[in-house]
Amino acid sequence: MADFSIFHWLIVLFIFALIFSAGKGLEAAVFRRKGPGSMVCTACGTRGFPQTKTRGSLGIEIVLWLCLVVPGIIYSLWRLTTRYDACPACQQPGMIPVESPRGKKLLSEDA
Ligand SMILES: [Zn+2]
Repeated sequence: MADFSIFHWLIVLFIFALIFSAGKGLEAAVFRRKGPGSMVCTACGTRGFPQTKTRGSLGIEIVLWLCLVVPGIIYSLWRLTTRYDACPACQQPGMIPVESPRGKKLLSEDA
């Protein structure tokens, strides 16, 4: 029953990753409600909303789930855990809140 055990743990991990990702999504929704341009990009100084980027492809994910469940779970886990918020202008990750000391500095340099 060793295989079942691994499978069981992968399912548990997958559920945790789903909860984690839902929490992140909720956090992003709260940020977006703060009004326009609450985040600033550390790479190019653009003020705006970060875009959530997911690595990999949904097509591969579906194929893996249909053919082989375990790699499907692993692939889904990888996609969920490597999600990141990117700048809408330069696509670089690492946008910071406007209210933060570094955010204020970036905006004052821009003006
Ligand atoms: Zn940028």
